[in-house]
Amino acid sequence: MAVIGSGPAGFYTAYKVMSKIENSIVDMYEQLPVPFGLVRFGVAPDHPEVKNCQDKFEEVAESPRFNFVGNISIGNQAGALPLRTLLPHYDAILFAYGASKDRALGIEGEDSLKGIYSARAFVGWYNGLPEYSDLAPDLTTGEEAVVIGQGNVALDVARILLQDPEILKETDITTNAIQTLRRSKVKRVRVVGRRGPMQGAFTIKEVREMMKFPSVAFHSVDTSLIPEDVSKLPRPTKRIMESEALSEFSELGIPFNDRSGIIPNDHLGRIVNDAADWTDEKRARHLPGMYCAGWVKRGPTGVIASTMDDAFSTADSIAMDWYGKVPFLNAEGGDSLGWDGVKDEAEKQGCRRVSWEDWKKIDRVERSEGQKSGKAREKFTKVEDMLAVLD
Ligand SMILES: Cc1cc2nc3c(=O)[nH]c(=O)nc-3n(C[C@H](O)[C@H](O)[C@H](O)COP(=O)(O)OP(=O)(O)OC[C@H]3O[C@@H](n4cnc5c(N)ncnc54)[C@H](O)[C@@H]3O)c2cc1C
Repeated sequence: MAVIGSGPAGFYTAYKVMSKIENSIVDMYEQLPVPFGLVRFGVAPDHPEVKNCQDKFEEVAESPRFNFVGNISIGNQAGALPLRTLLPHYDAILFAYGASKDRALGIEGEDSLKGIYSARAFVGWYNGLPEYSDLAPDLTTGEEAVVIGQGNVALDVARILLQDPEILKETDITTNAIQTLRRSKVKRVRVVGRRGPMQGAFTIKEVREMMKFPSVAFHSVDTSLIPEDVSKLPRPTKRIMESEALSEFSELGIPFNDRSGIIPNDHLGRIVNDAADWTDEKRARHLPGMYCAGWVKRGPTGVIASTMDDAFSTADSIAMDWYGKVPFLNAEGGDSLGWDGVKDEAEKQGCRRVSWEDWKKIDRVERSEGQKSGKAREKFTKVEDMLAVLD
């Protein structure tokens, strides 16, 4: 099976498939030289316990039946490896490539005014995502920051802006971000939502954490906006990002629902080809060997635990189909060579593969660089610096 994306969805599905299907082999393609998706580039640096899931992922990756194919983006863009080169060499493809687009608000000036950043960019910047390593947000021109949206990510951003940089510097936040935060003049953060306090999507835990900061005070909310019985209120979910189709999807007949931003599937991870009727289980037809998990399967909401649950449900479908003799890709005459069948084409495209051993080298250097300044790790923020470790 080829897995596209090395975030929680990819790893948890790989883990379950490998344990349910004896002798199954997984090749995991990741566009960056480093694994773990939003666990590395999204989860706040001062929440290291959330990243403990990486221990499980490491365990999966140590299996001789698992191959990490890092630094290879799947798609049609320059330097990427087209999806069609994978198809003849695998029984199944799992799309687990998350959400890599900002959800735009459609407000005038959103793109053109100075000092406006998407959550993906700002979070990516302090977490060392190469795409945003040069963001250089200016935090010195005013004392007021406004975060639009009221989910946990909004509170992550507020916390990073208000926390003492001398405390943050011990986390794996980038040194560049610490230097910028030390110069920050921001004193007030307004977390703006379009409805009342009960519609905020953040969890109480995140608010309590900030309430403990010694020099941070909160404005109280108008109590008339709070209903008497709050126990039955649903927790709203908010999306800050969007998934998009891989560039060759339409050419290869793989559906994508632009409106809901997901790959149409039967809720159990089987990709179905009848986009108009994909919720109609009787009419929707499964594309042989095509599966999805995580944020591309259900939309970009939910935490690592919910991503694990839905990855497990996709893995159950794959195992059920495999043992149920349902047709997979290349039913007639595939070579099942996996990466061995793909690598010549990858070389021709100028792709440089980063293996799991290579990633461990990068990991060791990051950890030892971090140790020098009392941090868990000092992340490389440029792809070329990651690759330089391997030269
Ligand atoms: C800012 C932020 C903070 C969060 N904090 C928490 C938290 O504290 N606790 C918690 O439980 N959850 C948190 N979450 C949610 C959690 O990160 C997600 O539930 C989870 O990461 C989704 O997993 P995924 O595998 O679907 O996607 P991702 O984690 O995004 O993984 C997708 C992977 O696919 C790769 N990829 C993309 N396109 C391609 C391509 N074309 N070719 C090859 N590879 C590709 C990406 O580089 C990435 O590595 C947070 C999310 C965000 C955005």
